[in-house]
Amino acid sequence: MTLQGARERRVATGGVELCVVELGDTARPTVVLVHGYPDSKEVWSEVAERLAGHFHVVLYDVRGHGRSTAPRPLRGGFTLEKLTDDFLAVVDAVSPDRPVHLVGHDWGSVQGWEFATVGRAEGRIASFTSMSGPSLDHFGHWINGRLRRPTPRRLAQLLGQGAKSWYVYALHTPALPELAWRGPLGRRWPRILERLEKVSGDGYPTASLPSDAAHGAWLYRDNVRARLRRPREDAYAHTPVQLITPLGDAFLSERLYDGLEHWVPRLTRRTLDARHWIPRTRPDRLAAWITEFVTSVEDGRPKRAPATGKHADRFGGQLVLVTGAGSGIGRATAYAFAAAGARVVAVDRDAASAATTAEVARLMGAPESWAETADVSDGPVMEKLAAKVAAEYGVVDVLVNNAGIGLAGSFFDTTPEDWKEVLDVNLWGVIHGCRLFGRQMAERGQGGHIVNVASAAAYQPSKALPAYSTSKAAVLMLSECLRAELAGQDIGVTAICPGFINTPITSTARFAAVDAEEQERLRKRSARWYGRRNYPAEKVADAILRAVVRGDAVVPVTPEARGTYLLARFAPRALRRLARVEPRL
Ligand code: NAD
Repeated sequence: MTLQGARERRVATGGVELCVVELGDTARPTVVLVHGYPDSKEVWSEVAERLAGHFHVVLYDVRGHGRSTAPRPLRGGFTLEKLTDDFLAVVDAVSPDRPVHLVGHDWGSVQGWEFATVGRAEGRIASFTSMSGPSLDHFGHWINGRLRRPTPRRLAQLLGQGAKSWYVYALHTPALPELAWRGPLGRRWPRILERLEKVSGDGYPTASLPSDAAHGAWLYRDNVRARLRRPREDAYAHTPVQLITPLGDAFLSERLYDGLEHWVPRLTRRTLDARHWIPRTRPDRLAAWITEFVTSVEDGRPKRAPATGKHADRFGGQLVLVTGAGSGIGRATAYAFAAAGARVVAVDRDAASAATTAEVARLMGAPESWAETADVSDGPVMEKLAAKVAAEYGVVDVLVNNAGIGLAGSFFDTTPEDWKEVLDVNLWGVIHGCRLFGRQMAERGQGGHIVNVASAAAYQPSKALPAYSTSKAAVLMLSECLRAELAGQDIGVTAICPGFINTPITSTARFAAVDAEEQERLRKRSARWYGRRNYPAEKVADAILRAVVRGDAVVPVTPEARGTYLLARFAPRALRRLARVEPRL
């Protein structure tokens, strides 16, 4: 194992010897990481390194895996009861006086559920973070519940999970899995992981993989059928649980965790836009969530009020940066992400309004909200902002390029300076944001999402908004191109196209080639009109969060924006006629 400063010891238990590795200061709270199938403790190396600065981190090879010895005979040597003995022996050795924080992935999590729900481990576990591995008892009850009351939806859920469990049936066949793993499958596994799961090499998986996988088949054979047939009735968690569900898991349906609150009185849910092997693909995010959860349990209180906003399971703890966050749609979007438990960076060229947004977000229960002042059209300023954000807050998970200005006036009334101003903010602002923060996301390699706020004007021509509409059409096309480019890196890109939204934009929008008095009159007129339309910025914010969750490409917001979107696709001539009508911004 290549972990810096790792200390190794061996723990004897029930006829096997377990290889246990420790990192970090033993005086700190202990976090025990349990690996899954087919794996060894090295699956955790990237997460462990990140946690070691805060905690006493312990990893061990499950019996029969990595550098731990295997039970003889294998059959019956991997029951959950024996795995519980092993876990308790490790805990007695590494943290005899203090309960530990347990973290499990895949079969490490399946085992973890056993430890977190059996009486003899009560008082030995301070918290449990579960990822990609359900309790076999809860799973058994989940199946039984659906068979007892089979609605079409519940049957579809059963069939869906049944199809995802194909490998479980395969592992129950005698001898064949062992032959495959010790032969061609074992050799090809690293490439398969890379292709399907985007897990890249770097010393992982280790050379013990074929024998880990062959021995580990007994995890399934010794437990799955027996537990699913007769799930324990008392499988209630005696510890707070943080459930992390990757939404792109090829092996487990997120529906498996429906109703989990019944079994877990103190449950925190998180979701991740990722596949199954998150300890390898999302170490930053996992380390941040584990640190936050463990710290809150150690403090004896939730660190912050639990987020109650929509999509809190998806955005809790994520870093979200919103430009133009000092007003209108940007401010509403910053608040919506704050309500969903995100850490928010509110950026605006107006320092005071950005500060107010961050302050209110903090009052809303998102203590980690910050304000930054920057003009999005200024390349060097944006470069400084990107460097500062990366150094002080981290790589953003969601970027919302929202800052924009309005400009109305016919083509011949629009001067080159007018063009430059509107393109600098509306288009170059988005380009700078995507280039700088998008690159950080791509280099981190853990996915993310970029939202560009365009406008219905992006696809709806108008004789009075040539510059504004052109800037927004460019943003729409940029978003589509970037979406194609970043698809392979799990970075989503969305263009939001609002119609008329009641925001202060009407009081700052400019009208080309008119004197100050006329400018004021026109502004008042459009403010009145937008006020009567009265579509709130909060609904655009809702649409933004929903679009990120769903990974939508283009989202028209407001009925008129949806209507003209349909016309643009199916009746462009009608839209061209509409373009000749004298419009408002
Ligand atoms: P708004 O005027 O209420 O807010 C815009 C915010 O962006 C302000 O706080 C402003 O200070 C900031 N900003 C402007 N230029 C900036 C720059 N160069 N750098 C940093 N910050 C800057 O406007 P809004 O209605 O909330 O608009 C937000 C976005 O939505 C814009 O891109 C706009 O084009 C788009 N949009 C608005 C409507 C609408 O009807 N309001 C419709 C479609 C699209």
